Amino acid sequence: MTAQILDGKAIAADIRENIQSEVRQMLANGQPPPGLAVVLVGENPASQVYVRNKRLACEQVGFYSQLHTLAADCTQEALLALIEQLNKDPAINGILVQLPLPQHIDEETVTEHILPAKDVDGFHPYNIGRLVLRRPLLRPCTPKGIMTLLQRTGQQLEGQDAIIIGQSNIVGRPMALELLAARCTITVCHSRTKDLPDKIRQADIVIAAVGRAHFVQDYWVKPGATVIDVGINRLDDGSLAGDVDFDAVSKKAGWITPVPGGVGPMTIASLLENTLQAVKLG
Ligand code: NAP
Repeated sequence: MTAQILDGKAIAADIRENIQSEVRQMLANGQPPPGLAVVLVGENPASQVYVRNKRLACEQVGFYSQLHTLAADCTQEALLALIEQLNKDPAINGILVQLPLPQHIDEETVTEHILPAKDVDGFHPYNIGRLVLRRPLLRPCTPKGIMTLLQRTGQQLEGQDAIIIGQSNIVGRPMALELLAARCTITVCHSRTKDLPDKIRQADIVIAAVGRAHFVQDYWVKPGATVIDVGINRLDDGSLAGDVDFDAVSKKAGWITPVPGGVGPMTIASLLENTLQAVKLG
């Protein structure tokens, strides 16, 4: 078997095109463009790349975007004051604080300071709580993008066995909630999980969010399974690799996402969708 490729780049381009025409319509109606403020603290090179890509995507669809860069040694109070100002700014519909933050700043305090209606990352406890209760508003971007990818396979999700490798607050846990809401039967694994390969072998859908290059092996995967690779790992030669051994697993899976060009572009597309949704919530 050779897996079909779930082309996140192409699907994200489709979504961006739809958003772009919606923005054109808003402008034609005399409405202001959706506004996204991105806040970057410090000079983490990976964060700089993510922020640049998010801003480029905003500009491409006609959003208004602001970039606020703060020094790595800025105080938590200064960051909270900036968020306060953005919370009140009517031109800003969405606020994104790029994680990770420097160690002296408490990420939870910062996340909870963003108005839930402007929390386009979907990390605020209010938005996570809405997802838990199956009444989602702004949904975390990476799991939301993965749900769009899964829907594009045309498969019925109800009743499927899904396994999520990774239990982080930004990927694994909200992913589990999304799949549960779609009425999959879910297994969430982490570094203390026993017999991981045996559990993966039972799954129709495998979501790998571990942060270890080529972690998921072909002989762990059920033939025909859908394999979603969230990992972004930088190898010694500077290239990017996912959490799945793509070359081997793609011979066994039914569907598979590449890295790059799979989940990454969908995360950004979901951020744009959330910002547009935030306009309607505001
Ligand atoms: P994280 O917070 O480091 O979480 C990693 C998870 O993997 C943890 O739950 C950890 O378990 C688990 N884990 C580690 N070793 C394991 C093992 N041997 N067996 C089973 N589970 C194991 O990472 P994250 O933020 O969720 O990100 C995961 C990956 O996705 C990273 O490569 C990140 O760069 C990437 N990512 C990509 C996107 C995108 O848009 N494509 C977005 C976000 C993240 P414990 O909880 O027990 O420690």
